[in-house]
Amino acid sequence: MLKPFLKKINSFNPIQKRFPLDYLIPVYHCVSNSYLPHLTHIINYKSSLEFEKDLDYMCTRFEFVDGETFSKNYTKKNNKPYALLTFDDGYSEFRDIISPILLRKGIYAINYINPAFIKNDDMMFRLKISLIVEKILSKNLIPSGSLMALLASPNASKKDLIAKIKAISYTNRHLLDQISISIDLSFDDYLKNNKIYLNINDLKYLQEKGFGISAHSWDHPYLPELSISDQVQNIQQSIDFILEHGFNTESIAFPFTDFGLKKMMFDQLFKNNKSLKFTLGTAGLKFDSVEKNLQRVPMENGFSASDEINFESNYFLLKKIFNKNQIIRI
Ligand SMILES: [Zn+2]
Repeated sequence: MLKPFLKKINSFNPIQKRFPLDYLIPVYHCVSNSYLPHLTHIINYKSSLEFEKDLDYMCTRFEFVDGETFSKNYTKKNNKPYALLTFDDGYSEFRDIISPILLRKGIYAINYINPAFIKNDDMMFRLKISLIVEKILSKNLIPSGSLMALLASPNASKKDLIAKIKAISYTNRHLLDQISISIDLSFDDYLKNNKIYLNINDLKYLQEKGFGISAHSWDHPYLPELSISDQVQNIQQSIDFILEHGFNTESIAFPFTDFGLKKMMFDQLFKNNKSLKFTLGTAGLKFDSVEKNLQRVPMENGFSASDEINFESNYFLLKKIFNKNQIIRI
């Protein structure tokens, strides 16, 4: 759906020589050359070659800096706009695949992690969805009556069942455990056989290598489903973990989206955490009425960094014409 739109936008307006903002914050989750059943149906992750090409392109237009330099300078004009590389969810590939590439190229990155999963004894509910979809798509699985009953979809096709499963959210995630039993899928076995997340030793190792480790909520809820006090509580729990382990509390990244989050929630977070300098969303190139909330550019939509950034730049300029390039929070 996005591809023809991207082409149209890029042809509508010649690519701007100057990036429209003073900074760029790309966000990735994972880089891998392997087929990862727990991610493949929810994240369009790149191969190491694609990732390196992205970095090489971004280095020609931006200056990658560390978190501290970024937080002090992101509002300042630089010959090349500053860039802060970010990774969400704390997947183990950051240590095995990504950090060697970044160390070789001398590029800093921050990992925004969910402390609930660092023991690798549970996984974020969207990963469970990916594993269930993987199993349903397997040739030999015939959806049972109990699976259809759980999803309240008698006689549904596999495609319809998958659409229903993908729509399951944080507050009804218990359904995923019930579904897994009905299709003979064990999340515990998968966790035993696959190290999904960076553990505390990995995080300490990465910190020693100079990478940032920061908070991304406790267990990756869909925040708009929670009350403001529950939103603050879930995020605060992750900041407290980061603080307790001597990691970086200058910034946090919201899980999923910051769409619909209220000004009052931001006020609470900044009031409770004096060291917090900025927060991060994933809405592409946009300003935010909460000035310390910065928007990142998602890099896993199936495009190269070059296409993604040129699209975002042109889309930003288009939105500017209609005064739609700022998120207003009440
Ligand atoms: Zn996330």
